[in-house]
Amino acid sequence: MDIPSKSALIIGGGIAGIQAALDLADMGIQVNMVEKKPCIGGRMAQLDKTFPTNDCSICILAPKLSECYRHHNITLYSYSEVQKVEGSAGNFSAEILKRARFIKEDACINCGLCAEKCPMRVDDEFDRELRKRRAVYMYYLQGVPSVMTIDKEKCLWFTKNACRICEKTCERDAIDFDQQDETIKINNIGSIIVATGYNLIEDINKEVLKNYGYGKFRNVLTALEFERLESASGPQGGHIKRFSDNETPKKIAFLQCIGSRSDRVEKYCSSICCMYTTKEAMIAYEHDNELENYVFYIDMRAGGKGFQSFLKRGENEYNIKYIKSKIAQITIDEKENPIIVYENLDTGEVKQIQVDLVVLATCIVPPQGIDKLAEVLGIELNDYHFIKTPPFISVETSKNGIFTCGCVHEPMDIPRSVAEASGAAARAAEVIRGG
Ligand SMILES: Cc1cc2nc3c(=O)[nH]c(=O)nc-3n(C[C@H](O)[C@H](O)[C@H](O)COP(=O)(O)OP(=O)(O)OC[C@H]3O[C@@H](n4cnc5c(N)ncnc54)[C@H](O)[C@@H]3O)c2cc1C
Repeated sequence: MDIPSKSALIIGGGIAGIQAALDLADMGIQVNMVEKKPCIGGRMAQLDKTFPTNDCSICILAPKLSECYRHHNITLYSYSEVQKVEGSAGNFSAEILKRARFIKEDACINCGLCAEKCPMRVDDEFDRELRKRRAVYMYYLQGVPSVMTIDKEKCLWFTKNACRICEKTCERDAIDFDQQDETIKINNIGSIIVATGYNLIEDINKEVLKNYGYGKFRNVLTALEFERLESASGPQGGHIKRFSDNETPKKIAFLQCIGSRSDRVEKYCSSICCMYTTKEAMIAYEHDNELENYVFYIDMRAGGKGFQSFLKRGENEYNIKYIKSKIAQITIDEKENPIIVYENLDTGEVKQIQVDLVVLATCIVPPQGIDKLAEVLGIELNDYHFIKTPPFISVETSKNGIFTCGCVHEPMDIPRSVAEASGAAARAAEVIRGG
């Protein structure tokens, strides 16, 4: 009798999930990958460049996206979520809800004609609501799978029983308003890897940022918003402009630890902000080398290969001034220039500086929906609601056969997410292949 071969289930299609999927698939193991958004790629797809090399983020990611999509051992369920998991290590089963995107995936070629004609303009989530997209949209330019999605909440057909212009425009008959959500059952899953990444504090609680003028002052942005502004595919085509007057900023202040290491918000360190702030300041300087950059920090946490020299390069080659400080207040003048009052912790002086733009390095928080997912999987979370892992064996969860990697169990950078992904894949393979 043939014993059916066991597959792996990977939840989350960011860089960690993608790397784990590719490793397992290359070992000859069947992989089911479930991604909640219309396309895989996660946060890395939103980044402009990546520290410490400052390579183009999407240039590194894009080949992995298409490899993942095309790999004969990987089945991708995008726009989907895991609803139920039963069984134990070596023999799990799962139910996946695949949401209708009202587009026939095998017919759509992402030509964009439907989006051109769609009359609805709605906030673009991928671009952090800094620009509008249409109700029928591509999640992001290089997204995989390269197919459109209809946003049911915004589409005139679903909200007002009108329009259907996209259907008339599509030359490939790819629009399908009758498409239904599907529940897919997968048996014979040997092992599961959870790689659902992170959210940022502003995704769940914008109030925390109000003290820093975010939401009140147009020239106060978050770091991920700034990342989108620096990106050539972002809302300003890579030419950074202030939202108040469309002027190029000449002085930028980057504020660290917004919500992190705080008794009032989150006590832990977000771990990557010292580095990505330096990167963002360097890239801004490359755009305009008359720029003055100020980084207001509590203390620098740059623990990684070449990280300390990266900060030194920032200081010496990119005109970044690091100020160990405590922020007291942010106001604006009549031209909407932010004014920062701070205590210089090296000298004890209270000082004030006027800048053109403020960028907030906001706290990394567990991904939305993690409590429900943990319950479905029967795994434990830690006090901060990241996945609980034992000390020193970071890919193990509290349940046999279920592993984790990347930011879903603690904030970390891309190199560590990738290294962990390979670790989790190796452990999952062990379970699947019975040791
Ligand atoms: C402003 C900023 C700049 C950064 N710059 C750098 C840098 O220069 N260099 C660097 O090394 N790191 C950088 N990082 C960190 C980097 O973004 C992370 O290290 C990396 O994205 C972690 O990958 P991940 O796969 O763990 O998570 P993510 O990228 O968050 O991917 C998780 C995926 O899981 C999906 N998902 C979530 N919940 C579910 C669910 N329930 N079911 C199915 N799918 C789900 C998400 O949609 C997403 O696609 C930066 C971070 C920020 C905020």
